[in-house]
Amino acid sequence: MANVDLKNLTLADLEAFIAGQGKERFRARQIFKWIYQQGVTDFASMTNLSREFRAELAAAARVSDLQPEVVEVSTDGTRKYLFRLEDGARVESVLIPDEGRNTLCISSQVGCAMACEFCLTGTFRFTRNLTTAEIVNQVCSVKRDADIRNIVFMGMGEPLANLDNVVPAIKVLIDNDGLQFSNRRVTVSTSGLVPELDILGASVTVNLAVSLNATTDELRDRIMPVNRRYPLKELLAACKRFPLPSRRYITFEYVLIRDLNDTLDDARRLVKLVSDIPCKINLIAFNEHEGCSFRAPTQEAIDRFHKYLLDKHFTVITRASRGGDISAACGQLKGRLESAQGSTL
Ligand code: SF4
Repeated sequence: MANVDLKNLTLADLEAFIAGQGKERFRARQIFKWIYQQGVTDFASMTNLSREFRAELAAAARVSDLQPEVVEVSTDGTRKYLFRLEDGARVESVLIPDEGRNTLCISSQVGCAMACEFCLTGTFRFTRNLTTAEIVNQVCSVKRDADIRNIVFMGMGEPLANLDNVVPAIKVLIDNDGLQFSNRRVTVSTSGLVPELDILGASVTVNLAVSLNATTDELRDRIMPVNRRYPLKELLAACKRFPLPSRRYITFEYVLIRDLNDTLDDARRLVKLVSDIPCKINLIAFNEHEGCSFRAPTQEAIDRFHKYLLDKHFTVITRASRGGDISAACGQLKGRLESAQGSTL
């Protein structure tokens, strides 16, 4: 049997593993710190462990690592990291700089099964869930290259469809002996899997972003098929009961698409839908891409929508489309690389 990748384990899992090796519990914490605070991947370097124990560990376990296959840097400083996983599958992470407060956007699956009509990743078929190690290693790898302040699960995949690996990964990210991110700086973004939202909220305390994009079930059913299972009313009720870190708000993401969801009527309905949920709203202008007939909104439509929400006293941010020259919209780098190489996953 293959040996255990310690990066698949939370600290509690590692303590159980170490106990199974007949060793003291506190050794797990020492190893965890070597891995996440020193970035060590070989047991020989863990010098506060006995030589004998290091040899035993090397026989029973390993510490995986990821090196980016490609890093593309955009003129606005956005950096895209493409990782090739052990089975040849590829995922990407995007580092978005913002006056020294870098945000890292990470992936949770290879491809995505949710099939949102406006999303390029949705056109890649779902291949598999990422392991806990593969999620955590995106952060470990980029951290060697740049400071990371915020982490968002907004890359490839629906994180709530992979809770078995996303929750342990979050526990490693926010563990004081692990990667030491404040839970106020970790955000999980979902297309709206309602039962899993409740499970996430019961398992860890993190920020939540919900990709909303439509204000009627009719339109949302069409552009986000998940809505046929969990319509707006159920989704918004789940948002209301989600336990956020203190003084935090839910973020509603709203991709503005020309003549589809960018009118003042849409803005009015949006205000009605979310008015009793402490939230902020991120507007994102749709990025036109091959294979999708949707159009980018006009600047006038964006400004009108933005102003309406502001006038209703919402915190609203219109996200500038970043990294356009390196195709930073999720999934695009992977798509380009694969078409260039003629490979499929
Ligand atoms: S928007 Fe998110 S959930 Fe929807 S297809 Fe794209 S990656 Fe999947």
